[in-house]
Amino acid sequence: MSERFVEVLGVPFINTTKDQFVARLGEHLNKEDKTFVVTANPEIVLHAYEDKTYREYLDRATYITADGIGVVKAAGMLGHPLPERVTGFDTFMDLLALANEKSYSIYLLGAKDEVLQKTIAEINRQFPNVVIAGSHHGFFDWSETTIEDEIKEKKPDMVFLALGFPRQEKWIAERMDQFDKGLFMGIGGSFDVLAGEVQRAPEFWQKVHLEWFYRLVKQPSRWKRMLALPIFAGKVLREKRRAKK
Ligand code: UDP
Repeated sequence: MSERFVEVLGVPFINTTKDQFVARLGEHLNKEDKTFVVTANPEIVLHAYEDKTYREYLDRATYITADGIGVVKAAGMLGHPLPERVTGFDTFMDLLALANEKSYSIYLLGAKDEVLQKTIAEINRQFPNVVIAGSHHGFFDWSETTIEDEIKEKKPDMVFLALGFPRQEKWIAERMDQFDKGLFMGIGGSFDVLAGEVQRAPEFWQKVHLEWFYRLVKQPSRWKRMLALPIFAGKVLREKRRAKK
């Protein structure tokens, strides 16, 4: 494995800081490359470990970043440290800043319509030079092709999908071949955060690596999903033991 990538439970993570990563994406945007970015937390890694079809979607990604302290810790435990988390939300915000600087066009897909409209208003306010090429809420009929047709026609520089996993990766992987260019990235609940509907954990909670706990307290309905964390940790420990032998 090259040093550019670090494998955790079979998922190859790009070995990068967030700033280096955004700079790299900037180069791809300059060249109008087609790029597919997955920001993977432990839940996603575990899902890829257990579900072959989802794993194949991830195989199509240009880059997979470590979105979650659990992935960074796991990489360290397995002897291949990663420098830091590269989260979907932070990368999204940096890409919006880049789009603002370069007047790039973007397409937004996902979340409830009212959240999407608030997200657009917030982008217009904070990043006035960003061109919104189009948008669609995230509760659509997957058998219709209106959304991909619009993206094909408008050719936005960046397409952000806030559909949650595994939907967003599935949508991109299954349609990638139809597009000529564009940076495609799944960003989970990021529209809800930008629209002010969901609060991200304050920096303190992120620094002490307890963002997951903050989210659990704020959105207790997520508890079932959080069971993935100890299962992920158990699998990483097993892999570490196996590697030692
Ligand atoms: N969502 C959507 N379409 C769906 C289901 C969910 O657009 O069919 C949106 C939902 O409104 C929310 C985001 O996807 O804005 C999922 O956020 P979540 O925090 O669950 O993301 P994850 O943690 O899975 O990345």
